[in-house]
Parts: sequence; structure tokens; C-alpha cells
Amino acid sequence: MDKPAPHPRFRGRPPRSALQLTEQEIRQSYWRYSNAHIFPQKALRADVSVQRYAVFPRPYYVDMLKTCVECSRAFIFYAREQHYWYETLGFYIDVDCVRCVECRRKQRAAKRHMERYAELQARDSLSRKEMMHFVDDCIFLFQQGQLKNLSHLGSIKNAALQQIPDYAGTKTLQLLLQSARTIGEIS
Ligand SMILES: [Zn+2]
Repeated sequence: MDKPAPHPRFRGRPPRSALQLTEQEIRQSYWRYSNAHIFPQKALRADVSVQRYAVFPRPYYVDMLKTCVECSRAFIFYAREQHYWYETLGFYIDVDCVRCVECRRKQRAAKRHMERYAELQARDSLSRKEMMHFVDDCIFLFQQGQLKNLSHLGSIKNAALQQIPDYAGTKTLQLLLQSARTIGEIS
């Protein structure tokens, strides 16, 4: 298996406390650990009093090797990260981490672009700054395959050429549309 994708925040930090637990003790402590790839030497004790759970809490956090559902790379869901998820952020204890940190970041960025695009799209007029944001969102969503209507994008490009012709994003959008249309003609 490839080397797991790095995590900028949690990699390489020493464990908060050194727990003397056997692998079996950890595996038996929580259902998800029973057949997961875990690193038992790095377990942390959890504060179950602040966890959100229905029946069974998670008494320990342990580094787990996982495969990202998006990019299929291996990554580690760190014990310290679990502590943060389940005690600071208050995530429900059975919520699992299925994406590597890079894919999680991309997913959040996509959500932000989509929300802002939808908001700006609904306005009657946009300031120069808003128009720049709108063009950025269109470029991002188009490249992600979430915006596909070329004539809709074409009219946004024309509005951008009117209002912010000197903005680099306007040129980018124009070039993207040109190449998309060229590909459309060839195929
Ligand atoms: Zn990934």
C-alpha cells in the first residue's frame, strides 16, 4: 500500500498520554475497532462524559488506517483528530471519517463556491468585487463538472467582459469556454 496521505495538523504530534493497553483491550472497547487497521501503541483515553452516543461510547481513540472514498489513497484518522471531532466539535460518536484531509478540504471549498454562486446568481446586480467572486465560482464549479451549461456560462462571461474586462478570471473563463466549445465540436 502507498504511504498514507499526510495530515498537516495531526501528524507527528506525541500522544497526550501513554496508555498501557493491549491491542485486544482496544479492539474490544468499541465495535469499529474490532476489524479495523489500528495502531494500538497510540491510544488516547477518551472523556466519554462529553461524547454523543446512543448506546456505546468510545472509551479510547486510536490511530486508524483508512482508505479515502474519494481518491482511494490510504490515510490515517488520528487519535488526536478523533478527540477533536468527538469531544470538541461534538460529532456523534459513530460518525466515521471516510475522506482524506485533502479531499475533505476540497469538499468544503466546493460547498463554499456553490453557496456563494447560488447567492450571487440570485442578485439583480453585482458590484465589481462580487462579479470577481462570481467569475471565480463559475470557473471552479465548471472545472469540477458541476456547472455544465455553456450558454449560461457564456452569458456570465459576457457580463464579466462588460464589467470587469481587466480581471484575470474573466480571461480564464473565456479560455475555458473556448476550449470546451472546441472539444464539443471535435467530439
Ligand atoms: Zn482523498
